[in-house]
Amino acid sequence: MAELLELVPCLLCGESRTEVVASGSGAAQLVRCRNDGLVFLNPRPTRAALREFHTRFVRENNLELFDGYRREILRREAEAVKRRVPAGKLLDVGCATGTFFEFFSADRWLLFGVDTSGLAVERAGGERPAHVCQGTLGEAQFPLQFFDVVTILDTLYYAPDPIAELRESHRILKDDGLLAVEIPGLAYTLVRAKDPLCRLLDGRASPRLADSCHLYQFSPSTMERLLARCGFRVLERIPEQASLRGGSLRRMVNRLHFLMARTVDWATLGKVSIAGKELYLARKVPVPQAAGVPSTFRECAPEARSECSVSVARPAITLDEP
Ligand SMILES: [Zn+2]
Repeated sequence: MAELLELVPCLLCGESRTEVVASGSGAAQLVRCRNDGLVFLNPRPTRAALREFHTRFVRENNLELFDGYRREILRREAEAVKRRVPAGKLLDVGCATGTFFEFFSADRWLLFGVDTSGLAVERAGGERPAHVCQGTLGEAQFPLQFFDVVTILDTLYYAPDPIAELRESHRILKDDGLLAVEIPGLAYTLVRAKDPLCRLLDGRASPRLADSCHLYQFSPSTMERLLARCGFRVLERIPEQASLRGGSLRRMVNRLHFLMARTVDWATLGKVSIAGKELYLARKVPVPQAAGVPSTFRECAPEARSECSVSVARPAITLDEP
């Protein structure tokens, strides 16, 4: 496995001075940057190994992970998005089986999705009123300033380069576009990894944090710094619920924790987060176009394609305004 791992510097500061947060069964470790506190996997699987993992991530025997456990969370997140943007063109990055699309009406929304999993794309494109393609966000080559909303829900931690992912989102969003990013809560993730709590919530021993393909774990501070670096202004951070799974006792504990997390967020004015998931809503800050102002964002290629560059599950959809 050694050749499938690679060492990386901190995403935010480029430094390599870290402390170990958790060890894996092999060489992989979850570490924290001593400079800015970013928690990330290092060494971590190479891009080729990650691509292989994600291509087979959605399987016939785990569809409930995407269709069942998260439906209630996705419904609330869709409502949060629609409170800010009532209609338009929406892209869901890492859309899996497309459950999120259920909460957007076809008469007000033109829906797009991208996912690296073939089965996910087949399900999402075949059963939902959405234009879905297989591949990464970068490969899809969407046109410049095309979307009103880009959502990255519970997938950003899989990206080998979250900065590239967010800058591409910035490029394809309209100037007043909305970005919605859902991530696991860092405090919750680290506490839940303790064995007794994991057995209570999951009914099994705690898996090693460093053995997963979750490459990054963001705190409110590192997430806001990352979003600002990529040209986004955070509007709000909304506490969300951990995925609902298991029997009635586990679901009740989950709901009680969610209630507690919302109370803590309210009582501390958002300064303390113990939520299972966090939804960030952020507005695109347009890049100044004045002469002499260097842009850190990739220019849109003039030949930017109006269709996905890889297999399109649902063809013949216009990219004009609905
Ligand atoms: Zn750092």
